Amino acid sequence: MHRVYLDNNATTPVLPEVFEAMRPWFGERFGNASSIHHHGQDTRAAVESARESVAELLGCNAPEVVFTSGGTESDNLAIAGLVAAGDHVITSGIEHHAVLHAAKHLEELGCEVTVLPVDGRGLIDPSDVRRALRPKTKLISVMMANNETGVLQLAEEIGKLAAEAGAHFHTDAVQAAGKVALDAKRIACQALSISGHKMHAPQGVGALYVKKGTRLTPLFYGGRHERSRRAGTENVPGIVALGKAAEMAKQAFDRGGQERMSAMRDRLEQGILAQVGEAGVNGDGAPRVPNTSNIHFDHIEGEALVIALDLKGLAVSTGAACSSGAMEPSHVLLAMGLKPERARASIRFSLGKQTTEEDIDFALSIVPETVARLRSISPRYNKQVVST
Ligand code: PLP
Repeated sequence: MHRVYLDNNATTPVLPEVFEAMRPWFGERFGNASSIHHHGQDTRAAVESARESVAELLGCNAPEVVFTSGGTESDNLAIAGLVAAGDHVITSGIEHHAVLHAAKHLEELGCEVTVLPVDGRGLIDPSDVRRALRPKTKLISVMMANNETGVLQLAEEIGKLAAEAGAHFHTDAVQAAGKVALDAKRIACQALSISGHKMHAPQGVGALYVKKGTRLTPLFYGGRHERSRRAGTENVPGIVALGKAAEMAKQAFDRGGQERMSAMRDRLEQGILAQVGEAGVNGDGAPRVPNTSNIHFDHIEGEALVIALDLKGLAVSTGAACSSGAMEPSHVLLAMGLKPERARASIRFSLGKQTTEEDIDFALSIVPETVARLRSISPRYNKQVVST
């Protein structure tokens, strides 16, 4: 069966070059980076070279990069590591659960948390950030790009407000890294999270940028790895892969890869909307990363559409998370003001470096007819057609 994968915000395939870069570190080159003998020093050099590559992608200095097990750990490390009981934290209602649930846990530990709203496009108004500031505000955590809609926040403005208020700024850039240029210094953040498997490195590796001079309480207790910021023997193959993926992301920017990606995404989006009525882009009108399109197809269940498309060979996803057996509408789309029905009727298409024009043609050849077929058997749609 011909299969096309447009769910790159869930995870990306490891690029062949990235796999080749990491392969020796499973076998013939195998030291512990803390060992002082040849094997250890060989490994240490590889880890430090990867750190340089990641630092270059993030616009920071290598010692400011802390390797972690992925985006969730990076978010937790930033959030738990930058505040203490009694502090006030500001975040937003559209964050990934790695941030929202970490912030909820802080509440249990005696912090106060303000969750900011977003507008209909999914954007946080910086003046809401300003209004939420209190003398005890220690941390603002606002994501750079949303995983469901791809909407990009005004991170620089929020960073400026944090700096003026003397608060730390953390941004979850897991869905931004490799898709838009990042510059930790310009964003004026103290911490920034990335994850390997969202940028063509493997699952289980990530990094947290921590600005020089920022005091960070570690999550784990153990050895002095990562300058005492993250205890645990380094995942060398994963780190080498993340370094290579960062290098390749940087080269792709220089070659205009993002423009090609957004042209393909726009062709997909416009092609669908030209053929399907009562559909629209969630997050339309806001700046977005070049690879993501979240579209509502009124009168159908997004989950049914995902399954129907999968049966035809196209992998996409709903923004909805399955909790306790029931499909809950996406908290991101609800926060944007979508009615639960429309939120449930939304699906996400997300492109990757491996996506081709033929993949877009394939999606365009099956999405409109699949939506039409699902609507034709939807009692909700038929009732509406009869009554209008
Ligand atoms: N933050 C965002 C915005 C994400 O999209 C994800 C993963 O979906 C994460 C954090 C968690 O990253 P990881 O899967 O590496 O733990």
